[in-house]
Amino acid sequence: MAVEQAAGPARGRTLVRNIGLLLSGDLGAPVLEADALLIEDGRIAAIGRSAELAGHGPAHSVIDAHGSAVSPGLVDSHVHPVIGDWTPRQNQIGWIESCLNGGVTTMISAGEVHLPGRPKDIIGLKALAITAQRAFLNARPAGVKVLAGAPVLEQGMVESDFAELAAAGVTLLGEVGLGSVKTGYEAQRMVAWARRHGIQSTIHTGGPSIPGSGLIDKDTVLEADADVIGHINGGHTALSEAHVCELCERSSRAIEIVHNGNERVAIAAAQAARDLGQLHRVILGTDSPAGSGVQPLGILRLISLLASLGRIPAAQAIALATGNTARIRGLDAGLIEVGRAADLVFLDRAQHTAGRDLLHSIELGDIPGIGGVMIDGAMRCGRSRNTPPAERVPEVLGH
Ligand SMILES: [Zn+2]
Repeated sequence: MAVEQAAGPARGRTLVRNIGLLLSGDLGAPVLEADALLIEDGRIAAIGRSAELAGHGPAHSVIDAHGSAVSPGLVDSHVHPVIGDWTPRQNQIGWIESCLNGGVTTMISAGEVHLPGRPKDIIGLKALAITAQRAFLNARPAGVKVLAGAPVLEQGMVESDFAELAAAGVTLLGEVGLGSVKTGYEAQRMVAWARRHGIQSTIHTGGPSIPGSGLIDKDTVLEADADVIGHINGGHTALSEAHVCELCERSSRAIEIVHNGNERVAIAAAQAARDLGQLHRVILGTDSPAGSGVQPLGILRLISLLASLGRIPAAQAIALATGNTARIRGLDAGLIEVGRAADLVFLDRAQHTAGRDLLHSIELGDIPGIGGVMIDGAMRCGRSRNTPPAERVPEVLGH
């Protein structure tokens, strides 16, 4: 189990050259006219042509992408971590490291709800949130950035609780509806307090996920007005397609689609957002670990689902899981832009796909092969042990 202290970014200058396709993560302009990146102290310092960037002075290391594509690291907008790289939900160790091998470089907690004996009293839930926030900040499993510390709303919380959480560094709420606060009017008041103190909220949408949780219908979602309509396609039981489309239309909040949800409704939600000209509101998550398990390739599979059956162009589908989430969640990664953290995925079409190239293969419903993953300028894995083999993989040419 590779849990390590946050080591800070890679020092020095790295040139990534011979990129065959540079995906920006930006929905409006998903492909960049460039084939090289210069990285300094873990951040993107320049984007351009290989020859031009090589002229910026000597690099401490060079990575030859050998014509493979580079995209921002994938962001999983909806996970349920507990502690380190262990999940009690499926009693599995190393699940986050497995997701790194699926291209995920950042995960966002929707609540540490699987902790055995999770405290539901107010001081206890605050203590858990602060502990989770600190623990994942201090130790990144396999290098993955896990934004955790997402308390679940319980009845009796007052505004000063949110002020206290915010002052302690908590920036997220766990899924509204998983605790004792289940009605729209109660949730709305707490969500507004959270927002006033800079804490972002997500609401559970749809039927109960496991015995003990409940239904959150579209009227409750609209009334609560959380920042993110969490798993709009259900976790796993979805609302009707008509109600999901109504949520896309009547709410202006982020539309989160998850792997561990209803796939048919996932496609309907993405298409409703596209038809409304609101694709920039769509973000992707796995909602794992869950009853359905842990899916190391969940984000890639969701991209492929939306690009193939949902007919969202593949480069845009990738932007849903990178730049969109970065903007909505206020991350400093997720986009290929100067100044952003150098969290990158090297990917190519999988060997023997029927697709002409990477994007075409995704639009045919295949998942890409990952040849390497970088976080803060440091390579965290080479050829993925979980994806099908990529045709071309990057090579680190040394220092
Ligand atoms: Zn949920």
